[in-house]
Amino acid sequence: MSNLTEREQAVVDGVHTALFVQGEWREAEGGSTFDVEDPSTGQALTQVADAGVSDGEAALDAAVQAQDGWAATPPRERGEILRRAYELITERADEMALLMTLEMGKPLKESAAEIAYGSEFFRWFAEESVRISGRWSVAPNGATRLLTMKQPVGPCLMITPWNFPLAMGTRKIGPAIAAGCTMVVKPASLTPLTMLKLAEILAEAGLPEGVLNVVTTTSTGKLMEPLIRDPRLRKLTFTGSTEVGRRLVEQSAEGLLRVSMELGGNAPFLVFADADLDAAVDGAMLAKMRNIGEACTAANRFIVHESVVDEFSRRLTERMGALVVGRGTDDGVDVGPLVEGKQRDKVAELVDDAVRAGAEVAVGGTPGEGAGYFYAPTVLTDVPVEVRLFREEIFGPVAPVFTFAEDDHGVAMANDTEFGLVSYLFTQDVSRAIRVAERLDSGMVGLNQGVVSNPAAPFGGVKASGFGREGGAEGIEEYLETKYVGLAV
Ligand code: NAP
Repeated sequence: MSNLTEREQAVVDGVHTALFVQGEWREAEGGSTFDVEDPSTGQALTQVADAGVSDGEAALDAAVQAQDGWAATPPRERGEILRRAYELITERADEMALLMTLEMGKPLKESAAEIAYGSEFFRWFAEESVRISGRWSVAPNGATRLLTMKQPVGPCLMITPWNFPLAMGTRKIGPAIAAGCTMVVKPASLTPLTMLKLAEILAEAGLPEGVLNVVTTTSTGKLMEPLIRDPRLRKLTFTGSTEVGRRLVEQSAEGLLRVSMELGGNAPFLVFADADLDAAVDGAMLAKMRNIGEACTAANRFIVHESVVDEFSRRLTERMGALVVGRGTDDGVDVGPLVEGKQRDKVAELVDDAVRAGAEVAVGGTPGEGAGYFYAPTVLTDVPVEVRLFREEIFGPVAPVFTFAEDDHGVAMANDTEFGLVSYLFTQDVSRAIRVAERLDSGMVGLNQGVVSNPAAPFGGVKASGFGREGGAEGIEEYLETKYVGLAV
């Protein structure tokens, strides 16, 4: 007996659960399937196709076959398909948000925000598709002309994580379509439904068969490695953990693939003595609690000047303690369950480790009881830097507060991590803001704001957070090769 409401069941039943290959929905080899769970109950929502190695090969065959025709399709046509898909997603935003909440857990308002954010990549890259251009110049000696052109990289493999089931796909698929590349997409096995829905929308928007192929699987490594090593593949783009990313970079060396890696984070959130504390606490709530803390951009370490640490912690504790935890589909819920039991247990372990080392629990600090993978919004104060959560990505609703005295010390603490995705910085002093922003070892900086994600900006990290940029004018470059033609005159 399903625990879903009639509307929820209808939304789940409305998803094609087969593989999307060569413009067709087809079963996996041997008819295998796997369960997709609702993390608020631990119960299965539905079953989707569980692709085997031959299904992966068929998906790449389809992408390779479609590549030349797609590259030759006029940019305006490619852009208009993206624009239509953007409009279809927007029309169906409520249904897609509900689907996302059911498979991933976050509250409906957050899923709606991701639908808006994720679809914007299609609108942005619809506009970029007609702005791909090259260069014409005269060689320094005047004897030849130099023509520089941009061409699609070729068939791409896209591997995406569960935490933003739409946006982590659209920021790869959007520029690939705009640039004229074909693709095989492998969504996370915890949250494949949103991507399957997106494939249906792109087909409806007129995307030719074979341009986008989606394979869902639990034999992930077994299926991905031969594709990565296949000489016909030209690009690998991955969003996920640093550990898996490192392995994929090694595999991609054989084919010398173009590679983009959007990996883990450990964002510092610096609050200086002169910060506007209202803005800093608002920013902290966003930077910490967006996506229940399950974001690569989540503030992982609050590093606060000693003169304001007590007041900042008091206000943050009050705000975190007032959040309503529950099933993401229920009215008034601010914080849904974590995506799976393993994730909830890891968060609990990190908190217990910090408490053993002397941290104080200002609020929260406990997992939820009963079904579903809930963890209470938590603030930890007086946290020593020797704890695991200073080094490891928490990926949950836990805010540890550390203290600094001198600016140099605060910046050194912020940079004391292998990661370098985003840093947040709150100060009202413009010269301090610039000085510190320049010294932070991260690909992005949020200055007096708790969210940096924006389809028009280059998203990406340095160090163990990876390389490559998604979004902005840079985003499409990841899918383009530069070819130079020398002309004798
Ligand atoms: P993950 O375990 O690395 O999985 C990400 C994707 O990789 C999933 O589709 C997964 O498939 C696949 N995968 C796992 N093992 C693989 C293998 N051996 N070969 C090929 N693919 C493999 O990461 P996650 O837990 O889903 O996502 C959370 C991580 O993503 C966090 O570290 C977070 O910081 C990072 N992230 C980074 C960004 C960014 O832009 N920098 C954005 C969002 C998330 P299965 O689902 O089938 O295991």
